[in-house]
Amino acid sequence: MSELHAPAREVLDQIAALPATSGRPLVICDVDEVVFHMIAHLEAFLAARDMGFLRHAYQLTGNIARKDSDTPIGQDEVRRMLLEFFTETSDKQSLVEGAAAALERLSADCEVIFLTNLPGSANKPARERLLAHHGMPYPVVTNSGPKGGAAAALSAGRGRPVVFIDDSPQNLKSVNLCLPETHLIQFVADDRFRAAIDPLPSVRLLTGDWQETTRHILTILDRS
Ligand SMILES: [Mg+2]
Repeated sequence: MSELHAPAREVLDQIAALPATSGRPLVICDVDEVVFHMIAHLEAFLAARDMGFLRHAYQLTGNIARKDSDTPIGQDEVRRMLLEFFTETSDKQSLVEGAAAALERLSADCEVIFLTNLPGSANKPARERLLAHHGMPYPVVTNSGPKGGAAAALSAGRGRPVVFIDDSPQNLKSVNLCLPETHLIQFVADDRFRAAIDPLPSVRLLTGDWQETTRHILTILDRS
């Protein structure tokens, strides 16, 4: 596995500390823009700072600028702002419609684990509390960077098939590389960003609908 995809020590430590596996099929589920809205909150956060997205594209660096400018802010400023954004917002993000009911249904047949890229280790408890508050008390692993290595480590010794749900093309590509047998679902709650996506050949379902996602996963389980 290349350096880029290899999971960090703190990710492996979180995986080692997870409850024992049920051995059921594994659903690895992202949080931002999948079960909680993120883009809408980030747009409001940026607007309050006289900033916005340049395009509805799946890219943060190179895609955020001040309102009076076409020149994107630099990578360091994006990183700083994202940390500030999550520190301010992790305890109040709104639920994507149908997410809690869908995961509850799926958890009857599957082991559900959240794998989320969340800056700031102090933000993890806030995210866990908000997920539990919305009826999603499933284990949370926080990661940074492409998720392939973390997904491979997470799925080792757990049930099959493995389903991976994420909005980010980078994460879907990374998981496809590191764990090619994984069934990939690209879930994007925001209609504008979903419409702008160039579908990846490895992705079996591109959706923003949790009922469709649930039916799709139950069909996979029936066939396996
Ligand atoms: Mg996400």
